[in-house]
Amino acid sequence: MLRDLSELTFDNSFVRELPGDPIEGNHRRQVRGASWSRVEPTPVSEPTLVAYSREVAAMLGLDPEAIERPETVATLAGNQVLPTMAPYAACYGGHQFGNWAGQLGDGRAITLAEAVPREGARFELQLKGAGPTPYSRTADGRAVLRSSVREFLCSEAMHHLGVPTTRALSLVTTGDAVVRDMFYDGRAAPEMGAIVCRVAPTFVRFGNFELPASRGEDALTKQLADWVIRTHFPELGEPSPEVYAAWMAEIARRTAAMVVGWMRVGFVHGVMNTDNMSILGLTIDYGPYGWIDDYDPDWTPNTTDANGRRYRYGHQPRIAFWNLIRLANALVPLVGEPAPLEEALDAYPAAVERGQREMFAAKLGLEALRPDEDDALVEELFAVLRLVETDMTIFYRRLATLPTSLREGADEAVLEGLRDAYYAPDALAGADRARAAAWVRRYLARAHEDGLPDADRRARMDAVNPKYVLRNYLAQLAIDDAEKGDFALVRELLDVMRDPYGEQPGRERFAEKRPEWARHRAGCSMLSCSS
Ligand code: AMP
Ligand code: MG
Repeated sequence: MLRDLSELTFDNSFVRELPGDPIEGNHRRQVRGASWSRVEPTPVSEPTLVAYSREVAAMLGLDPEAIERPETVATLAGNQVLPTMAPYAACYGGHQFGNWAGQLGDGRAITLAEAVPREGARFELQLKGAGPTPYSRTADGRAVLRSSVREFLCSEAMHHLGVPTTRALSLVTTGDAVVRDMFYDGRAAPEMGAIVCRVAPTFVRFGNFELPASRGEDALTKQLADWVIRTHFPELGEPSPEVYAAWMAEIARRTAAMVVGWMRVGFVHGVMNTDNMSILGLTIDYGPYGWIDDYDPDWTPNTTDANGRRYRYGHQPRIAFWNLIRLANALVPLVGEPAPLEEALDAYPAAVERGQREMFAAKLGLEALRPDEDDALVEELFAVLRLVETDMTIFYRRLATLPTSLREGADEAVLEGLRDAYYAPDALAGADRARAAAWVRRYLARAHEDGLPDADRRARMDAVNPKYVLRNYLAQLAIDDAEKGDFALVRELLDVMRDPYGEQPGRERFAEKRPEWARHRAGCSMLSCSS
């Protein structure tokens, strides 16, 4: 275990192997023919470490105490760049809400370096909120505490849930105020600034390819693709037209696995623009994301998306495909013709279909879904979950506790065990109540056919249906305290989310339904992009 961040080995291959912007400085500009711009983080007044992930420290080979050293905190705040680092902001574009937006780039994220703690491992250390870059456009390059708490906690929660994601090493407050118009109503106010150090093998996005492709910079698109393949997909072999197509298929499969993971745990990303799609299939850029409390496939947490609901929960698998098609378009010049890439894209619907079937089988504790019969069972489940407000997370945990001996039970007995999952249990009445009970009996009869003992079925279900998720209101409670300078709840939530599938006796309050007060409170039920 290394005692100091400065002992880490860095190998800054992105800046070494890819063309950089010849112009220096942080002033806003269009950057052509380059994948990155050299940029320095802007120092902050009073860097204070308020939380960190010991798992990410360990992943980097760092003794957790190394994170607490003042020199390390200074680096994690952007106040001290080590001589072995080569900070840069990446140049990328993207489709936002379905429209091409041109150059975007890292407007407030600055990569410090690529750490190579051991053979075969490579981690980009990136500060989010570290000051302006050439890509900041009209904004300040900073991040507020509330959005930083949300990104820090959710990255780690997603990891422990088993969903591919970028990670978060540290959360540092800056001591500087950041002015934000949180509700976009002209009432801008100062908020506490913060910086998260994010960690991922690479933060390259679909948009890194789309931008040079849109400019006809095919040589640059190729250079970047070759670097990504050689560095992060070496198993595919030396880049060639065939390898580009195989790579596209692999990205499609990884993206499918990520989205199926989101659907399983009830996560809504909120801004699935192509600049927020990782080339590694990781959940990236935690902004106005949200978690499903009551099951509603039409729900979106993002107020900017309230009208079109493009990024609503139930639409995420289709949007990911749309985004993959944008990436494939950008790669056409490398392959020479669209056909091999179109074929590669077919991997996506196939992987989502297979992934969703496996996922629902696991959520229901079944060996596998039988075609037709079980598809109908799952379809009816979706309808039953919408009869009255039903907490998705609690529903699956409760369902796991029902013994198959109840498969011929009366409505009352069958539904008793699910009562906790309903926001207004007595609202489930009449024909709806009979329909819900009928579904449960049908499900238990089906589980009985599999022959798995109840305890084994429950264990199988509890391993994929989390008890603890980062409910929107929980994150908001932690933010309310953090804004008063109290970070205990941030740290406790981080700890709770380390074991989302465990029972964690004594911590049941973190597994409860969203309270009524949170139903319409900003930050709990809806979020703006202001961050
Ligand atoms: P997002 O919607 O958060 O993914 O951001 C879209 C683009 O806006 C990215 O290029 C960001 O880097 C940039 N951006 C967002 N917030 C800021 C900020 N406060 N300062 C500079 N750039 C920003
Ligand atoms: Mg983004």
